[in-house]
Amino acid sequence: MKKAKGYAPRRTCISCGTKKNKSEMIRLVLDTDGVMIRDADGKGQGRGAYVCPNNACWQGMPTGSKLGRPFRKNGSIRIHPDIHFEFGC
Ligand SMILES: [Zn+2]
Repeated sequence: MKKAKGYAPRRTCISCGTKKNKSEMIRLVLDTDGVMIRDADGKGQGRGAYVCPNNACWQGMPTGSKLGRPFRKNGSIRIHPDIHFEFGC
């Protein structure tokens, strides 16, 4: 299999559905309690979800049980309070 030059993994924003390079997006993972946290160093375990680094996507993100879908998890997902207002743009 040939790989195109400059290939980078693309990820889909769970809010707006835009596909971007993985490195341009914010990775979200679930902690051991099933609370969504920001995977700051990219070492989070398990299935991650991605969102664009802007307030529009952050605030328009699905919540509750809809948020469980990208994580392949049933039921409601809580968002860790510390990651709510991180974007200055
Ligand atoms: Zn987005």
